[in-house]
Amino acid sequence: MSVAMTIPLVDLIVAHKELEDDLMTVCRQVLQTGQFVGGTMVESFESQFAEFCDARHCVGVGSGTDALRLALMAGGVRQGDTVITVPNTFIATAEAICQAGACPEFVDTEHRTHTMSPVGLQEYLENECFFDRRSGKLTSRRRQKPVTALVPVHLYGQMADMDPLLSLAARYGLIVIEDACQAHGAQYFSRAESAWRKAGSMGAAAAFSFYPGKNLGACGEAGAVVTNNEQIAKQVMILRDHGQTVKYHHKLEGCNSRLDAIQAGILQAKLQRLPEWNRRRREIAERYNRIFAPLADHIESPWEPPWGRSVYHLYVIRHLEPKVLKTHLAARGICCGIHYPTPIHLQEAYRRLRYRVGDFPVAEKAASQILSLPIYPQLTLEQQTLVGDMVLDFVQASAHRTVACSN
Ligand SMILES: *Cc1c(COP(=O)(O)O)cnc(C)c1O
Repeated sequence: MSVAMTIPLVDLIVAHKELEDDLMTVCRQVLQTGQFVGGTMVESFESQFAEFCDARHCVGVGSGTDALRLALMAGGVRQGDTVITVPNTFIATAEAICQAGACPEFVDTEHRTHTMSPVGLQEYLENECFFDRRSGKLTSRRRQKPVTALVPVHLYGQMADMDPLLSLAARYGLIVIEDACQAHGAQYFSRAESAWRKAGSMGAAAAFSFYPGKNLGACGEAGAVVTNNEQIAKQVMILRDHGQTVKYHHKLEGCNSRLDAIQAGILQAKLQRLPEWNRRRREIAERYNRIFAPLADHIESPWEPPWGRSVYHLYVIRHLEPKVLKTHLAARGICCGIHYPTPIHLQEAYRRLRYRVGDFPVAEKAASQILSLPIYPQLTLEQQTLVGDMVLDFVQASAHRTVACSN
């Protein structure tokens, strides 16, 4: 297979070719102002991204991981608290919870959506927590510590089922921080409000990542906290800048996690294209769905619930032998990924949490079946057809093998 035929999982070179002039202009502008960190370029992007999310405030920070950590801290999570999330996510979700001084506990996901199961959350709150009369706080049986926040993850570009999660959170007094790092522009139909809502506008606050490979990516590291809560926005602004309100007057101990002007300018230029790019991703996903429909016995396409409009950060199929399929495609120049091969509760880094295989069967089964196919706005029709044909080839060949074996 020639190099020219190689189809990457994500192509960050073609995406930037079409924007090169705009991005060079941004760099030149910043060089001329000398305002490298913070400043008008950053503020201008923040207000545009808040508007894009249908939210009141956006505070740019150094990464998605920091956005989540600072949102949790500003939202009121305290040292020692327990924060609920899911086991099938990027490790940054758990890292941010721990770096905010808390500890994660997990609720399993749903098979079809790969996002937090509302029934699972209800069972967790009813059976694994109790109301401690002395402290007056919801307390985890496992850790004997207050359970204060919920982090639903809008995975692969699709929002978690927010209505039931929000109503449970309200009933139990939990702060909701959305991990929207893979869901820029995703939408959710709230039955409670009878309206479509944007990712990042539903919880107390949300974390976005602008890592280069995300739907909206910087040319380096960047992230943002989005919120309708002015207090949270102000607190994140203080935390990201060494806890200072006035220069060298430190109200609290913060950190250095500011957004720089070049990244903000680049993000602002790209934000204009994001609706069109997300539309392209949805078209590509629909086309993959049509290609794989006849293979439903072998390939399970991603499910989009009637209440969700995914922005397909990833296009994730299920197959019984995803690693064999991945090798087959790699040999034909098609790069796939697995997001993620090991659920967080089984990661070596979190052995201290003492979870075991079997604790979250839905997420564990998903981890053994998922495969992410190439998807990015500039993926051509020919490239997509090639991916489809190669998957088709594989399924037909393996069907023959199965027949041969049973004969
Ligand atoms: C990318 C990502 C993060 C972290 O964002 P960074 O900008 O890489 O720090 C957090 N959560 C999820 C689900 C992500 O995909």
